[in-house]
Amino acid sequence: MNTAGAPEPHPTAVYAERMERARQQMEAEGIDVLLLSLGLDLPYITGYHAMPLERLTMLVVPRDGEARLVIPRMEAARVVPQPGVFQVHPWGEMENPVEIVAGLAKAAGPAEAVAMGDQTWARFLIELLPLLPNARYSRADVVTSMRMTKDAAEIAALRAAGAAVDRIAAQLQAGEIPLIGRTEAAVSADLSERIIAEGHQVVNFAIVAAGPNAASPHHSASERVIGRDEILLCDFGGTMNGYCSDITRCVYLGTPPAEIAEAYAVLHEAQHAAAIAGTVGTPCEEVDRTARRIITAAGYGDYFFHRTGHGIGLEGHEDPYIVEGNSLPLAAGHAYSVEPGIYMEGKWGMRLEDILVATADGPLPMNVVNHDLVSIDV
Ligand code: ZN
Ligand code: ZN
Ligand code: ZN
Repeated sequence: MNTAGAPEPHPTAVYAERMERARQQMEAEGIDVLLLSLGLDLPYITGYHAMPLERLTMLVVPRDGEARLVIPRMEAARVVPQPGVFQVHPWGEMENPVEIVAGLAKAAGPAEAVAMGDQTWARFLIELLPLLPNARYSRADVVTSMRMTKDAAEIAALRAAGAAVDRIAAQLQAGEIPLIGRTEAAVSADLSERIIAEGHQVVNFAIVAAGPNAASPHHSASERVIGRDEILLCDFGGTMNGYCSDITRCVYLGTPPAEIAEAYAVLHEAQHAAAIAGTVGTPCEEVDRTARRIITAAGYGDYFFHRTGHGIGLEGHEDPYIVEGNSLPLAAGHAYSVEPGIYMEGKWGMRLEDILVATADGPLPMNVVNHDLVSIDV
């Protein structure tokens, strides 16, 4: 896991407030102990980002009682102390850290309802099971729900990252990035350089898919040479100061034939309708349905075979998911993508993606660069 591009460390008060809210949520949900290991839940609560080592790092948060970060002794020096938020419990090479976690969990109370962070090595959970024989396990939804709702500083960070990829998309649409005669891989490398040049610390992906390759939504940029008279799909993003960007724009290398222009008009209408549908209180699945209804009515329903979007924040894909079956109502601060696509296998594909933040005043786009299928000849 890359710890570059981590958020600026916050003052201790921010983590103290998040820890307090997590405990309130634990209380509300009847969780006795929260256990967080890898991934972004831990830095969200503590400011400490654990490397994905075979040595266990785990934050033990009893509902009542001191939180302790169980950490390999050799890693302890990297922890910035957050007095009043958690204490550091280093373990030596000859100790069993899973036994330490179980002991801390039991010392503070019943340890029957245990919430476990998504990103925990299976081996540590398997070793923990017999040590807490009365425990019932659930996912750490308490942190998921907190992370889903972005505060003003987080929205500002998403906006800055969004503006950076907008600038790159504008360069693409202006013909400032040479395309024809280059390989997808070369253009992907070019986009990656621009992602860093525009202020991100980390490149997360730079999908470049030409012609029929664009029909594969997660196509990996290949040695295929980009030619005239084909569509080019670029979906790229990175992490800037801890928060992710993610945008998709397509350009056409020449004048699009009627078949592609017509499909793109439908895609654009669907993306626009779904984007403005994301008002506070609207279920996530309704945003998905809004895009899907338009695409289906135009006869392309079978060719839009993925969800409409995903949440975004510290991670490129996180809750809330914009998908049928997710009845969660959008709340102010929810950040998510709206990215319908139409994919004709063997022929062409297209997707149009922006990040939006739900606010009391309506959905706020983090990406505002031209939505058209711009014709270029470079
Ligand atoms: Zn994307
Ligand atoms: Zn996306
Ligand atoms: Zn539009």
